[in-house]
Amino acid sequence: MSRIMSGIQPTGSLHIGNYLGALLNWVRLQEEYECYFSIVDLHALTARPEPQELRLAVRELAIGVLASGVDPERAVLFVQSQVPEHSELAWVFSCMTQMGDLNRMTQFKDKSQFQADNINAGLFTYPVLQAADILIYRADRVPVGEDQVQHLELAREIVRRFNGIYGQTFPEPIVVPAKAPRVMGLDGESKMSKSRGNEIGLFEEPEETMKKLRGAKTDPQRLRRNDPGRPEICNVFSYHGYFSDAATCEQIAADCRSASIGCVDCKQSLAGNLEKVKGPIRERAQELRANQGAIDEILNEGGNRARAVAKETMDLVRERVGL
Ligand code: SF4
Repeated sequence: MSRIMSGIQPTGSLHIGNYLGALLNWVRLQEEYECYFSIVDLHALTARPEPQELRLAVRELAIGVLASGVDPERAVLFVQSQVPEHSELAWVFSCMTQMGDLNRMTQFKDKSQFQADNINAGLFTYPVLQAADILIYRADRVPVGEDQVQHLELAREIVRRFNGIYGQTFPEPIVVPAKAPRVMGLDGESKMSKSRGNEIGLFEEPEETMKKLRGAKTDPQRLRRNDPGRPEICNVFSYHGYFSDAATCEQIAADCRSASIGCVDCKQSLAGNLEKVKGPIRERAQELRANQGAIDEILNEGGNRARAVAKETMDLVRERVGL
């Protein structure tokens, strides 16, 4: 069975971009593959969060992952920092990685602009740790969004270099395309993200979601209620594509083009369909929050299972490189 490794950063409350881009895929992938799913708290340190906030974010993320349907009996769910072999392999890999290759990473440039006052070395070598995250489990498949494809290419390059010098040790991981690689934010201008404040929270109450949707960008040509719209360029319509069934999408598109509905009607319909997905997740999350001991147990058990595999890989790497 192919082995999948995927990680998600604990950077604040989960939003529907995380759900569509990662969690929903995880739920599907656990049916077909041997899966290692990690809450990558070491990566989160690149933004230097408050310690207490980071711990809380890790816990809330674990709750969100479980509430969304990831089954710890099927997949190994763990916290990255509980498996120190990730960092150890990252160091070995950083000695296999050329500065020129890291300099080409577009995500480093993007993130540097976003946190211009904190351009740290961890941000620069982030893709090396990411390569270690995948390869410490010798995973051969990785579900990544389009913005991570370049990092996976670098991981493959590191594997080729390592295997070329020390002999066949790691597989070259390939991309498993995610169904929703890039979910745009409510501003319609950038990827949905908590830090940009353009997100629809996964645990949000329906009233709050509707309030946010009211301000969401739509087709700029629909200035008045009876102006015909263009659903194909409307960001709100793209959300319908994820949460409404095909017949509803077709009807909304036709009604938008003929101006039979206004944007508020369209957004109300979307809010209803969003709630059909978010409501049960929110309820399961509440139940999980009431049983913190069970969360600890799941993460400890996942950490132990992950560590057993990671240790095997690291023993082999140590032997190969002469440590
Ligand atoms: S009716 Fe819906 S699809 Fe059409 S422009 Fe308004 S929000 Fe977008």
